Amino acid sequence: MSFNLATILTESALGHPDKVAVISGAHRLTYAEIDAASDRFATGLRDQGIRPGDPVGLQLPNLPQFVIAYFGILKAGAIAVPMNVLYKADEIAYILKDAGTRMLITWAGVAEEAAKGASQAGVSNLVVVTIPGMPDTTLGTPFERLLAVAPDGPAVIHQPDPGDTAVIVYTSGTTGRPKGAELTHFQLFMNADTPGRLFGVRDDDVIMVVLPLFHIFALSSILDVCVRFAATMTLVPRFDPDTVLATIQRDRVTVFEGVPTMYVALLNHPGLDRYDVSSLRIGISGGAPIPAQVIDDFEARFGIVILEGYGLSETASTTTFNVSAEDRRVYSVGRPIWGVQVQVWDEHGQVLPPGADHIGELMVRGVNVMRGYRGNPEASAEAFSDGWFHTGDLGYVDEDGYFFVVDRKKELIIRGGYNVYPREVEDAIYTHPAVAQAAVVGVPDDLLGQEIKAFVALRAGLELTAEELIRHVKDRIAPYKYPRLVEFRPELPVTAAGKILKREL
Ligand code: ATP
Repeated sequence: MSFNLATILTESALGHPDKVAVISGAHRLTYAEIDAASDRFATGLRDQGIRPGDPVGLQLPNLPQFVIAYFGILKAGAIAVPMNVLYKADEIAYILKDAGTRMLITWAGVAEEAAKGASQAGVSNLVVVTIPGMPDTTLGTPFERLLAVAPDGPAVIHQPDPGDTAVIVYTSGTTGRPKGAELTHFQLFMNADTPGRLFGVRDDDVIMVVLPLFHIFALSSILDVCVRFAATMTLVPRFDPDTVLATIQRDRVTVFEGVPTMYVALLNHPGLDRYDVSSLRIGISGGAPIPAQVIDDFEARFGIVILEGYGLSETASTTTFNVSAEDRRVYSVGRPIWGVQVQVWDEHGQVLPPGADHIGELMVRGVNVMRGYRGNPEASAEAFSDGWFHTGDLGYVDEDGYFFVVDRKKELIIRGGYNVYPREVEDAIYTHPAVAQAAVVGVPDDLLGQEIKAFVALRAGLELTAEELIRHVKDRIAPYKYPRLVEFRPELPVTAAGKILKREL
């Protein structure tokens, strides 16, 4: 059997050639245009000596060039290695070497670092995309040259085995050096097809892509989903509430997909009332726990439903999902999607029964789970037990099969022998109306082993003391769980994907 993930693009271009696939500032590109450009890109890659199975680094912001290059790489049968756009030379070199990359497609904003990184890794083939006046972009010169060297006309699309690697996604490395999860053409297709069907993507949808495309959430659950169902995507290169709200208004965006910090920032934005956001019909949240209070407030203010899903780089994104307003359970990350099984295991590998009292590690098996980590048999072996993938997340399942993520295993706080899940404490903190962002971590304590510390950023113009916040939280959760230490910060650090960076706190 043979199947290339890029089929999702060629099929949409066949069925909807003149439909706008990508909006980027003032630019609009149709499905036929994106398909033809990626054909030429694939031919250009081949002319440059790229062969099926060769990894190609892809370090671009959310611009049409990302979409063209991504599908071009896939069509050539090469492997896309998306990379964080802000990486420095050492990080770039590490990934290029680890993945065995033959070429790096990068952008002008990091050209110097990228050139250094590529030379450290011995990669001489560097394609730099210049981006005059982001985000109002035109296709940059060196990139155009790569397109131009290739003759016009359809590319010969390589037809790999569906189980061949299509993309290598590097985990952000909160636990040691980043590891490259190998995801196949089939897995990524399933992860575009199933979640898209579940939340009912239509070809008249306009989907916001402000999460970085190099992250699995945006790559699989937004870009691939959008292309699979021939919807329109509007690309925003950097999150900023005004830009996002103005884009929703301008492009009549119907689907917003984001991480919780984005929902919080939009909700708390003082200029929110200036924008018409009535086109929105649905919000999708994932990547980190979204506090129930944020869901309630956002739904009330925007008049839409937020559906929460759960997944990891290693599971090609979506693992569980709350399918619809009728089916969902607030607090829950939903039920496993088609072809995916999830179990809760105790530390001895025993499957735990349903119930909030039976918290264990979430284990996943199914069509979405990676082949393994590139060139790292030890880490790959460690990641699996009896064919089940260790997510490193703690949670439980209820009687109806809905899963609940209580926290990451490594973020669990053990205070004087009691387990405290930071998420529960954060949820209680978020119920205070003055709070914009909260993160709870364990800090070393001589007596108790660990003490609970909360980092909090307040909403603009509002005031709150540590004592008032502690009193508020104490009224909501058991006494051993409330934070003894509170530190206020103007804002909390976040990753490029917008997740709160606890390790920096
Ligand atoms: P690392 O690279 O260290 O594993 P990461 O956050 O970069 O960290 P990702 O693959 O991007 O890794 O994210 C996966 C993790 O995000 C999950 O293991 C889980 O902890 C968290 N997560 C994703 N969705 C949810 C959700 N809906 N609720 C709670 N946590 C979530």
